[in-house]
Amino acid sequence: MLRAIGCCVNSAEFHGVETGERAHARPRGALLRRTMRLMAEAADSRVLRADWVLPVCGPPIGNGAVRIEGGRIAAVGGADEVFRREDCVEDLGRVALLPGLVNAHAHLELSVYAGRLPPSSLWDWLPRLIELRREAEPARNEVDAASRAAWDCLSAGVTCIGDISRNGRVFAALDDVPIRQVRFLELISGAAEPPRDPDELGLALDAMGASADASRPSGRNWGVSPHSPYTVTARHLDAVVRLAVERRLPLTMHVAETMEEREWLEHRTGRLAEFVARHPALNVERMFKGDVLGLLERMSHVAAGSGVCVVRKAARESAEERPAGDDAIVTAGSRSRRTAAPMVFAHCNYVRDDEIAWLGARSWKRRSGRGISVVFCPRAHRFFGHRDHPWRRMLAAGVNVCLGSDSLASNESLSILDELRFLRRIAPECPAATLLEMATHNGAAALGLRDEIGAIRVGLAADLIAIPLLSDCGGDEFDPAAAILDGGEHVSHVYVGGVRRQITG
Ligand SMILES: [Zn+2]
Repeated sequence: MLRAIGCCVNSAEFHGVETGERAHARPRGALLRRTMRLMAEAADSRVLRADWVLPVCGPPIGNGAVRIEGGRIAAVGGADEVFRREDCVEDLGRVALLPGLVNAHAHLELSVYAGRLPPSSLWDWLPRLIELRREAEPARNEVDAASRAAWDCLSAGVTCIGDISRNGRVFAALDDVPIRQVRFLELISGAAEPPRDPDELGLALDAMGASADASRPSGRNWGVSPHSPYTVTARHLDAVVRLAVERRLPLTMHVAETMEEREWLEHRTGRLAEFVARHPALNVERMFKGDVLGLLERMSHVAAGSGVCVVRKAARESAEERPAGDDAIVTAGSRSRRTAAPMVFAHCNYVRDDEIAWLGARSWKRRSGRGISVVFCPRAHRFFGHRDHPWRRMLAAGVNVCLGSDSLASNESLSILDELRFLRRIAPECPAATLLEMATHNGAAALGLRDEIGAIRVGLAADLIAIPLLSDCGGDEFDPAAAILDGGEHVSHVYVGGVRRQITG
């Protein structure tokens, strides 16, 4: 329901009137001009009221409201505090209004393989997937399915997706989908098609007009994804980390997904050794060798070193900022690390306590955080039959843990609400508010968008969703976050940048 307080504008009139240049060029009297002005304001400013507003960055608000101006959140609070006399109010009724969900790890281009591969270990699944992708002319099918899957994500309340593509072909098709995107272009060293090395990765990003500007109104952001430490050489990995820092792009990589990966990294033995032997393009001698902690430290050191270089270069260009000595360089390096590109490590299913502590000490959650996060994909984790994921120990250690779906080739849906409800069932002791934070704010931080989305906070983009509340939601003990996770209701409203996106089907 759309209603205006203090004026007679309703949604039907609003949608039926000319706006913009043409309307202003043909004024038809004072009343019409006033009506046009009110409607123009209504287009740019509206208030959503809901029985519950869940800001994530603060406690739930009963009978809450959110003012949206120019696509951003201008006010949030109790309805009585937020409403103004002239407001155009959309009363959403008995719903919980919360930030849009963030899927921080997906491969939309694999959506065409939905249901084609049975649950199995990663090492049984991966060769079958590679085989499927070699089938005749899959490219067009992959693009079409990716677009449909992105729409499904949006309908399920995912307003931002971190999507990895092997060759970037799907990205153009996703231009038409109004879901906020961080498009990670993947690198596999020596792959059959580009990008096969960091130079090709850089050129491909240039060709796609990739930039790191999170405020782009299109909501299209970019990132880089060296696939894994067993498919990207150590030298290429260093170069991609430097590229990410210098271009201020987020970086994501699959890390410690299996015990076999750990064994191979340290000893070059086990099942992954067999996999690598079947793919001669993978140059074993040039891959990183050591434990996962060593890998993480190496990437972190390269990133920090790149930061110093960036600051030194900037300082040369500006005499005032030139470092006066070693101390100044260290200071400059520290400063640059704070602005370094975020790194989000996918899975980390098999990590030791000291590695968790290392991740926690460098997390967004820490004051001195260097923007490191872990993305956990709960139902894909089950699909591959992994042992219990240490996400609760990670949270306790201060790691910024967010949620992803991985692809439809290893999951039933790309819905983060489905992931949340699955986690709620297997970890009922975890507060629902913590789960929601993982699915919103933590995901936004992981993708380098924590100043843009992920909470209902003044100044952030109005990426919002509403989920109906069926149970009695008035008692003192009522927990709206628990109610939406324990219930089974579908998302009823989706807004991206303040624009309502119609839910169909
Ligand atoms: Zn993945």
